[in-house]
Amino acid sequence: MSSFDVIFVLPYPFSDHPSFPEGLLKKSLELAGFSVGVIERPFWQDKESFRVLGRPRLFFAVISGPVDSVVLNYTSSRRRRREDVYQPKGAAYFDGYPPSIKYKVRPDRATIVFSNRIRECFKDVPIVIGGLEATLRCFAHYDFQQDRIRRSILLDSRADILVAGMGEKQLVEIAQGLRSGVRGQDMAFAGTAGTVKGMPKDDGFVELPSYEAILADKTNLVKAHFLTEMALCEGKGIAQRHADRVVIQYGSATYGPADLDRIYGRPYTRKHLNGDGYSPALRMNLFSITSHRGCGGGCSFCSIGAHQGKGIISRSPESIAMEARALSRHSEWTGYISDIGGPSAEMYGGDCEVEGCRKPSCLHPEPCRLFSSGKRYMALLRECRKLPGVKKIFLGSGVRYDVLADLPELLEEILRHHSGRFLRIAPEHTEETVLNHMRKPPFEVLKSFVHLFNSINRRLRRKIELAPYIIVGHPGETRDDVAAMKNRLMSLGLKPTSVQIFTPSPGSLSTAMYYAECDPSRRPIPVEKHVGELMKRKQLLTK
Ligand code: SF4
Repeated sequence: MSSFDVIFVLPYPFSDHPSFPEGLLKKSLELAGFSVGVIERPFWQDKESFRVLGRPRLFFAVISGPVDSVVLNYTSSRRRRREDVYQPKGAAYFDGYPPSIKYKVRPDRATIVFSNRIRECFKDVPIVIGGLEATLRCFAHYDFQQDRIRRSILLDSRADILVAGMGEKQLVEIAQGLRSGVRGQDMAFAGTAGTVKGMPKDDGFVELPSYEAILADKTNLVKAHFLTEMALCEGKGIAQRHADRVVIQYGSATYGPADLDRIYGRPYTRKHLNGDGYSPALRMNLFSITSHRGCGGGCSFCSIGAHQGKGIISRSPESIAMEARALSRHSEWTGYISDIGGPSAEMYGGDCEVEGCRKPSCLHPEPCRLFSSGKRYMALLRECRKLPGVKKIFLGSGVRYDVLADLPELLEEILRHHSGRFLRIAPEHTEETVLNHMRKPPFEVLKSFVHLFNSINRRLRRKIELAPYIIVGHPGETRDDVAAMKNRLMSLGLKPTSVQIFTPSPGSLSTAMYYAECDPSRRPIPVEKHVGELMKRKQLLTK
């Protein structure tokens, strides 16, 4: 028997940092009185790697981290990546083996591989899976690397419980339940999922088209996505048949500002557990502060809504200021905060009181009149700028230009105090049909934002440049759209600095449209899947 209640297993070095899920989860369990052991980067080709800490008293937690392993392991042109920013020196392969033998540190679908290895070693120890990969693959989903629909990760991983979304509270509840003798497969509370025999009878659940129905008719994946989105908005449960089993998610866990203050307000070393160096991902986030969770954008290609929710949950300014002060105790502190933000920085303070709002986006097709942001964020930045030892605060997480287009005072504040050479914005496209499929604002909004930006930039005598992120190959796009986009960007004096080919990551509306080649009302749309043509579209914009 291990000396730990819970053993975490993750495919990269553990970071004791509040920007990393494992750091937050371990602190939450320890705060509740549970001991946590960590198996990091196990040599998964050998199952003995999963026995090193023995058998946990309560459960194994397989944490896939903030990115889906297939999305991290492959480029959008389906080439395998050699780098993994979460690994030491960013190396995707284990060291110490002859070049001919390449052992990947993070296997594809790492959650499934690790869970099955653990199951081989410990037949009856509860396994809990969580993280973005598990959340987005909870139901039948499209896997672009295998170009097929896969069934729920719960069935393939043989795990007992799946923690959906941010999971600090759920993991503590699972530990308390197991310690009090409740069996893992009998647990059914908000923010978790499991498998059961029959479809739930009460109307608190939304039934999705079954796995088999999606295999039979591709457009059912789009329908399933919409029903999932609706259920998450309304806080309902979700259920989906897979042959004689039913995968069931028991609604969304509720988090409030006090929960975030408690979790983020803990002392973190901002180092790896083994203290050796910094992975590129940890280095990048070393002095970043999370001010809120959630995003009201609801962009079709983004999974933040499914993982963190649409509703904004903002920490208190006091809790954030306390964390900022604590940074000065770090051996590498030089006075620069790389970010105070969340999925979109300026949404801090945009907490909406409306319960069960069914709109998938607060900003599309029109900004909701109840959507408010900006004022509290400006006040927060002003407070943090005054803190002793803080030389400058950057906004690494990026801002929504459509929100700032209506907040000239905040935009001026950001350009005056919080910008380096570039201000990163994400228009992603310029053509109305594609923007509509992406749930992004119309081109006119980008135009008015650029004019506002240029006028403030001139008045402040700053030479800040806009760095637009662009996606090519999104469902609904034609090659002519890309040519038109090039002209429109040039008309605004914008040169795309980052052009991505659309990656159909699991669980997003855009991926469902990609797979089914239809829009949400099941009308057929053009979808380019040929990598060669997609590369040409990218070159068209970048050359
Ligand atoms: S009421 Fe408006 S601001 Fe609130 S969640 Fe719904 S769309 Fe967003």
